Amino acid sequence: MRMPLIAGNWKMNGSLALIEQFGEAFASAGLPTSVEVALMPPFPYLPAAQAALGGTSVMLGAQTLNPAHSGAHTGEVSGRMLKEFGVEYALVGHSERRQLYREADEAVYDRLLAALSADIRPILCVGETLEERDAGRTRDVVLRQVGHVMARLEPQQRARVTIAYEPVWAIGTGRTATPEQAQEVMAAIREYQAGFDRELAAGLRLLYGGSMNAGNAAELLSQPDIDGGLVGGASLKVDDFIAICQSAG
Ligand code: PEP
Repeated sequence: MRMPLIAGNWKMNGSLALIEQFGEAFASAGLPTSVEVALMPPFPYLPAAQAALGGTSVMLGAQTLNPAHSGAHTGEVSGRMLKEFGVEYALVGHSERRQLYREADEAVYDRLLAALSADIRPILCVGETLEERDAGRTRDVVLRQVGHVMARLEPQQRARVTIAYEPVWAIGTGRTATPEQAQEVMAAIREYQAGFDRELAAGLRLLYGGSMNAGNAAELLSQPDIDGGLVGGASLKVDDFIAICQSAG
């Protein structure tokens, strides 16, 4: 019922040569049709990625977007512009944006609305820090981040959102949440969503992110509320990324 999604977040990494390598590998990979795959390279690589992946089922995503459509926002990129390059997904609220660029819940909400209005499907990223987990606040923090956005959306907008649970302590650290830890939080997010609408909650796609790799993906993805992965480091290695996509099928 929920189509798995594996999204590769290249962050500020990659090159034109790597885009070409991915294009060639995915053209012959024979991905399962039961899985959606999205690649999120840095903005300048989008046109090359669009060309290299054009003959494959891999979709394009963006790592962020500005809340405005256009105007005096030096250095920023809008959803409308991204749409011109075939972008179908956009991350909002990634923990690196929250921490390094001080994007608070309200800024995340504005970006998510901007994605929806550009007909781009937002992936709302949420997750607790190690201090918050150790203090027993994981559920409160995650549901606050989810609620700040989801509680204010119309039902048809909520249906377009994917949520990525990414414990901050697991991102880029090689330390993965156990499948049980991830499942517990995912179930809490789905239950929260059911407070608005049970049917929408049952269809809500939830991704796990945080040091997912070819070795641990299958076990994480076998959890009942984990519908895919947001993959950072392992999405830069084409064989690993394809293996993760295959284990979601
Ligand atoms: C991420 O960037 O969202 C991420 C999960 O990174 P990594 O897989 O490297 O932990």
